[in-house]
Amino acid sequence: MHGSLILEIDLDKIKYNTSQVVERCHRKGIEVIGVTKGFSAIPQIASAMVEGGIDGLADSRMENIIELRNKGFTQPITLLRIPRLSNVMQVVQYTDTSINSEITVIKALDQAAKKLKKEHQIILMVDVGDLREGVLQENVLDIAKQITSFKAIKLVGLGTNIGCFGGILPSSNNLGILVELGHAVENQLGLRLEIISGGGTSTLLLIGNAEIPAGINQLRIGEGILLGTDTTNNRKIPWLHQDAFLLRAEVIEVKSKPSIPTGAIGRDAFGNIPEFTDIGVRKRAIVSMGKQDVNIEGIRPIDERLAILGASSDHLIIDIEDSEQEIKVGDVIIFSLAYSGLLSVSDSKYVRKHFKGSSSANDET
Ligand SMILES: *Cc1c(COP(=O)(O)O)cnc(C)c1O
Repeated sequence: MHGSLILEIDLDKIKYNTSQVVERCHRKGIEVIGVTKGFSAIPQIASAMVEGGIDGLADSRMENIIELRNKGFTQPITLLRIPRLSNVMQVVQYTDTSINSEITVIKALDQAAKKLKKEHQIILMVDVGDLREGVLQENVLDIAKQITSFKAIKLVGLGTNIGCFGGILPSSNNLGILVELGHAVENQLGLRLEIISGGGTSTLLLIGNAEIPAGINQLRIGEGILLGTDTTNNRKIPWLHQDAFLLRAEVIEVKSKPSIPTGAIGRDAFGNIPEFTDIGVRKRAIVSMGKQDVNIEGIRPIDERLAILGASSDHLIIDIEDSEQEIKVGDVIIFSLAYSGLLSVSDSKYVRKHFKGSSSANDET
């Protein structure tokens, strides 16, 4: 098989994870939109989400959303990054809903929507503590009121983002504030909000232990469905698959070498001064994968006896001294991925994508 660096994608596991998340959320009256940015919106994976019963799709990048539309996805799509003033026309054309916090942008969306003779839906983002995007709580009513003056814009809900910048955990407290603000907007402005969007994967924990405040009726899930993990809460989600994605790399050298380099130490290929501990001569393998292919911090060998020692742009060096199997040149070492690892390989042209599962015809791209 040519192309020795392969991302293996199990579409059945993604479909299963989707259906599990959807089922648990629906039981609480919460819709789930599937976030496609973690895998650069590869259509086969988005299809697995759709087959798993997802209520809509969402991405932070217009390029990915346009690609989904071109591939024939007709589901509602939400843009998950505040639109750039410079491409409001595309946003209105290709998405149903976008998240917003800037009145200047909303005004431009309104003008674009009028030109395109469409209505564009907006979720107003509220900052409940994580300090990424969103208006401050005290400004919500005022801004919501301004939004209602735009004829081609429909304010459909409030949303918040948690656990992304400040690492703040979702709680019944901060999500409760969002629900309250939703009620205040409805009462004071005399309108109905369809959506109170309570975050991403990290909020699933609150569903599990019944702490999710009544009123939250949408979650935007990426990581949980794809990897079965919840980095913000530092946990594996026990009822989901963690191995829908595996990275397979080929061994190109196996040798026993000292654990400390010989000679005067300068900078490594990335300008850092490396540090080493002397633990004697160790057997090590080099696989043909490096920092140009993948974010090394976001991968881990499946075999826990193997340890990544480091990498340059094209070589990853692994301590295999404690491996129970003999590893030879030409063998494949398999890695699991964290979200950062998945992000980096999904759109790399150096990494072949291999699909398995009944939803695919074992096709490769
Ligand atoms: C990426 C993103 C998500 C998805 O987060 P996960 O932790 O992957 O579930 C949800 N909402 C917004 C605004 C995002 O940017």
